[in-house]
Amino acid sequence: MSAQKLPLIIGIGEDGKIVSIRKAKRGLKCNCFCPCCGTALSAKRGKVNAHHFAHHGTVECAGGVETALHRFAKAVLHHYRELIVPPVFMHGLKRPIQRAGAYRYRYTKEEKGIKGFVADVVLFGRERLVVEIKVSHTVDDYKQRIFIRSGIPSVEIDVLAIFKELVNEGRGHDTLELAQRIINFGNRDHGFAVHGRWLFNPIQHRAERQRRLSSKELKVRHSEWRGYHHVRTIGCPCPKRQRFVSGENWSKAYARTYQECINCPHLVEMVHEHAWIGYQWTPIRVKTVRCGWTETKP
Ligand SMILES: [Zn+2]
Repeated sequence: MSAQKLPLIIGIGEDGKIVSIRKAKRGLKCNCFCPCCGTALSAKRGKVNAHHFAHHGTVECAGGVETALHRFAKAVLHHYRELIVPPVFMHGLKRPIQRAGAYRYRYTKEEKGIKGFVADVVLFGRERLVVEIKVSHTVDDYKQRIFIRSGIPSVEIDVLAIFKELVNEGRGHDTLELAQRIINFGNRDHGFAVHGRWLFNPIQHRAERQRRLSSKELKVRHSEWRGYHHVRTIGCPCPKRQRFVSGENWSKAYARTYQECINCPHLVEMVHEHAWIGYQWTPIRVKTVRCGWTETKP
């Protein structure tokens, strides 16, 4: 379903405030405008079709729904005092190091500039939390790096996905439910964030850094025999795969680098040899494996 087919459920009233379709008067009496192009809207609240706003006299504009959702999400954050933030995972691990929980805040600021970027919304509680609202495009790698550099906890809420889900359930006009789902990241049953993620979480990054510092660097050996290539990580500490090789590394257990290490939850990094290929600094083969193996199960 493309964004254009989604119903417009938010208009902007004459006073500049948000009017939801739930509360609008029928037809042009709703007295509100498209948040994107400013055309007068007419509220369609019939018995057959799902309730929505329609542009009066013209075709629907391209960005209306997205702009409306963006405005709506900001207003929701402004009116609530608590956001259910998603659980925190360390890279590669399935068990969260911090469960989903409530983040309480006192006030919000919109489109606030901090440390070289403009945040959609900043929540001010015990500490700051930056909220990015995803309606059309996600935060890219470059912007995410800025978040990580800034050191301020930040989350991204996928409002468009939440809204799509609601429309598919036939409740697209239910702005109250939409607000609820924005507040808890579209999650309804298991405590897992479905439509949102951490852009930067200091607890996660501290834990990952700790794991990196305590990790061991294991040598990777490449051998070839009659056309069969073996790439082995020498000294794999995991008792699950205690295999041994003869010769120079006799009595040291190994793991198959490309089959086993690559999917191992203890893997911290595969350190590659690089070369300049076609103007690009390209990883070509694994040199060593950073292994964060610990006795405790991840
Ligand atoms: Zn419009």
